[in-house]
Amino acid sequence: MRRRFNAFISFDIEGISGVSSWNEVANNASTLHAYRKIATAEVNAAIRGIKAGRPKIGEILVCDSHAQGENLIITDLEPGVTIIKGSPRRYYMVEGIDRKFNILFCIGYHAMVGSQRAGMDHTYSSSVIYNIMINGRHVGETEINAAVAGYYGVPLGLVSGDDVLATEVRSFFGRTVAMVITKYGISRFSARCRLPSEVHAEIEKKAAQVVSKSTALRPFRFKIPIRAEFELMNSAMGDAVEPIPGVKRMAARTCAYNAKNILEFYNILRLICALGRLTQ
Ligand SMILES: [Zn+2]
Repeated sequence: MRRRFNAFISFDIEGISGVSSWNEVANNASTLHAYRKIATAEVNAAIRGIKAGRPKIGEILVCDSHAQGENLIITDLEPGVTIIKGSPRRYYMVEGIDRKFNILFCIGYHAMVGSQRAGMDHTYSSSVIYNIMINGRHVGETEINAAVAGYYGVPLGLVSGDDVLATEVRSFFGRTVAMVITKYGISRFSARCRLPSEVHAEIEKKAAQVVSKSTALRPFRFKIPIRAEFELMNSAMGDAVEPIPGVKRMAARTCAYNAKNILEFYNILRLICALGRLTQ
């Protein structure tokens, strides 16, 4: 008997079709509701694709991971899913992932901080993090979250976001991970956008394809111990995070941390972002 297939969908909003700046999705923006609807439809396309590609679905868990995790419209989601929302939560963008899942999808993602022409490029905190390196290589949210999933043996299967993110995904994960380009970056707050209906059709199709041949995917892991370097926006943030046990101040704005695994790294990252914000 074939085992049931469990899928984890991590959702962010910057990479969905149509959004080109944070102003459009700010809490008081008149456009917020329209983008919440597009975001929910984009996640729904992934859910429909997963269901179409696998006869036996066990669990589909959606993790609403932009800002406070209050973006997706629960009454509009496809049936048969549960959703993690709200904050704080220890593992934020991948809260709830564990060994029972067979695949990770990253919907609405964006390129790492410092990526040219990328829509709203940042890594976890646009106000605190200037750069993150793991084992000497710059990384963004997609790689970090894929590595948390990889810790549990869960491979990354599909990513949606702009063309700059697509290049990043290709360089880390190769061509086995399905990529749906939602827009083409012009600058940090400008893009040439595809229509949501066309993006959603492609997500549904590629989701079905990738889950039907998911055994070809491999979990993504960084070599351990993880040697992390955090470059912060200013020296006050360096002062604030320096007392964290295990953190080594390398320079005014730079600190290092050696983590025994990606979960420990994730906790330190979240702590650094939280403490860094307090200096503002
Ligand atoms: Zn976000």
